[in-house]
Formats: sequence, structure tokens, C-alpha cells
Amino acid sequence: MGSVRVRIGRWGYDGPMDPRPAPGIEGVVLGQGASSSFDGRPGMPDRFGRALRDLRISVTDRCNFRCPYCMPAEVFGRDFAFLPKELVLSFEEITRLAGIFVALGVGKLRITGGEPLVRRDLPVLISDLAALRTPEGDPVDLTLTTNGSALRALAGPLAEAGLQRITVSLDSLDDEVFGTMNGVEFPVSKVLDGIAAARAAGLAPIKVNTVVRRGMNEASVLPLARWARSEGLILRFIEYMDVGHSNGWRLDDVVPAAEILELIDAELPLEPVAAQYRGEVAGRYAFRDGSGEVGIIASVSAPFCGDCTRARLSAEGSLYTCLFAVAGTDLKGPLRAGATDAELAALVESLWSVRADRYSELRSAATEKLPKVEMFALGG
Ligand code: SAM
Ligand code: SF4
Ligand code: SF4
Repeated sequence: MGSVRVRIGRWGYDGPMDPRPAPGIEGVVLGQGASSSFDGRPGMPDRFGRALRDLRISVTDRCNFRCPYCMPAEVFGRDFAFLPKELVLSFEEITRLAGIFVALGVGKLRITGGEPLVRRDLPVLISDLAALRTPEGDPVDLTLTTNGSALRALAGPLAEAGLQRITVSLDSLDDEVFGTMNGVEFPVSKVLDGIAAARAAGLAPIKVNTVVRRGMNEASVLPLARWARSEGLILRFIEYMDVGHSNGWRLDDVVPAAEILELIDAELPLEPVAAQYRGEVAGRYAFRDGSGEVGIIASVSAPFCGDCTRARLSAEGSLYTCLFAVAGTDLKGPLRAGATDAELAALVESLWSVRADRYSELRSAATEKLPKVEMFALGG
């Protein structure tokens, strides 16, 4: 297809990020907020007119992998102090907060971590979240991102609990490469078996996330594309990002989206596909022979902050309005102190309404040095 085009952000603004004023709490009637010009659904716009539509919920900061781009083993070793249980939101607390976000216009919930499947009894939470309804009376779009290591055991119970679809992370089909990229030499075959279990349980579509890191897994791109195409899986390549402050990220380690697309296009010709909805993270490319599609999450080379509708709730109950935030706002404190739903909703709205985050569009030598919160704490 010649030169491959990727989506680019839409602003020319290059001023400093705005300092966030302390939130105030006022009464709101849930689900009755102003209608957003973003997509016509109810909800408060942020400073750039973006509506709050997606909530990523981290259910744990723990993980059984040590992917060097996320939780390098030399930093997160045996002595690392993960959150004690009493500081982690309970299922009841997560469900109550998620319900408030849904009432404010969130239509999509993604369960993540750390590794979400290491959280005990996760299907119980899934069934509580699956029961939530939007102000229009619709079920929420409920999904989960996992490293796949425990899917053989959990895919069935999760699907029965109401999980609809799933994303599995897999960086290579080559055991040596994958073993290095997961940091614990976890075998590819077990993740593939987990994907088979997810399919058998009826989770669909199944998406596969692959982080591409220079010098590590470029040679895995094409084999993964061939495999996903033959298996009917939606593969999404993710540019290696400067999340957190432990992975030693360097711009040189990023394989840009255009290069990834060209690698695939040389053997399996591609054509761009229109986004399915506003705010879609992955740029979509269909195989020209009609045999499926791949996605590219180009957050470094082609930032998409302009349509970013995502908020993140950490395992300890803090709200982050950007993946690259240096600080969140504690929701657990007010929740445990007895705040009403209306008070919590007002707090969320007050944070969202002043949101001016667009880190990826401002990324520079100065922002790289910021003490950003780690990816496994925010959930990606
Ligand atoms: N443990 C689960 C997993 O790996 O799928 C869920 C949490 S993980 C933080 C969510 C996603 O973030 C994964 O697909 C992972 O590959 C991706 N990720 C982690 N660190 C990243 C980085 N530095 N750059 C790009 N993607 C990253
Ligand atoms: Fe764990 Fe996922 Fe981070 Fe890898 S990317 S260390 S699997 S949380
Ligand atoms: Fe959204 Fe922040 Fe990522 Fe931009 S950098 S797309 S605002 S999470």
C-alpha cells in the first residue's frame, strides 16, 4: 500500500499543562448532567470538550510476570512492597464507584491491573459489574486485559459471570523472545492455551496486545500477524511507551507504527479502516484480501489525546485522568468516610471538568523526566 498513514492528534496547542484546582463537592443528580457535544450522550466535557466514556479499573497492583517495559524484575523484586489488602478497593467499593461513573456517562469498563486474574474471586466482581446499566438502560461494555497465564482456569467462570470479550497480551510466538519480554520465562504455549479456553468459553472478540520494542521483538511482528489472521484474532501492536519511571524508556527503543505497518504490509497488504467510534484507541488496518484486520496503538508517534475519553481507577482507589499522570485523586478516602453517591459523582465531575491532559501530544525531554505513576498501578 506504499506509505502507511496513521491517525494524528488534532491540536496545535503547546502551552503548559494546567495545574489542577482542588475539587469541591456539590450535589448532583446522577445521570442528569448536561448532554455532551462530544457524542450527544449525557455527561460533562473536560476542558477540551472530551466526554468521560471509558473507565479502566485496576483490581490489583500485583502480577506474576515481570515484563521489563512495565515491572522490571530488578526494581520489582521479592522485597517490593505491593499494596496491603486493606488499602485495595473491595469488590463492593469498586462496583459502587463504577456505578457512579456509569451514571455519569461511562459506557465501557475495562478490568485490568497488575494482572487482574491474580485477584481472588474475580468472577464475583464481573457479575456485579455486568449488572450495571447506563442512564439509557443499556448494559455496559465489559472487558478485561490479561497476560493470559491463568485463562485456562478462569475463562469459563468469567464468561459465565458476564464478561463479554477479552484482550490477551502476547509479545511473541517465540519462547525465547517471549520469555525475555515477560521476565519470568513464561511459555507461549500456556498463553495460547488460555486463548483457546477463552474462545471455547464464548468470549468474543478476542484481541491480542503486542508491545513492540526495538531490538527485542520486531522479528515477531510478522509471525504474530500471520497467526492472528489465521486464528481470527484481532491483533493490536502497541508502541513502547514511557509510562512510569522504572523501565528506562528511550525514544530509540520505540518502533514507530508506520514501521510496524510496513513490516506487515510487505507480505500481507493492508488498507486503513475508519474508526468504529469516536475515541477508538487503535488505528485499524484491514488485510486487503478480507481476511481480518490489525490495529496499531501509536501513542508515541501519532498521539490521540484529542479524543481521549478514558479515566483510570487504581487498585487503591485513586482516579487518574491520564495514563501519564504524576498524581491521582483519592476516591477511597471520601468513599470510606461516608460520602454519598452524589458527593462522589460531584467529585469525579469536578476533576473531569478541569481535565486538560494531553501528555502524549506534549511529550518532550521535559515530560520524560516527570515522576509518572507506574503502568501496573494504573492498569494501562
Ligand atoms: N497484566 C495485564 C496484561 O499485561 O495484559 C494487564 C495490565 S498491563 C499494564 C496492560 C497493557 O499494558 C498490556 O497489554 C501491556 O502489554 C501494556 N503495557 C505495559 N507497559 C507498557 C509500555 N511501557 N508501553 C506500552 N504498553 C505497555
Ligand atoms: Fe504484568 Fe501486564 Fe505489566 Fe507484564 S504488562 S508486568 S503482565 S502488569
Ligand atoms: Fe489520554 Fe493522556 Fe494518553 Fe493523551 S496521553 S491519550 S490524554 S491517557
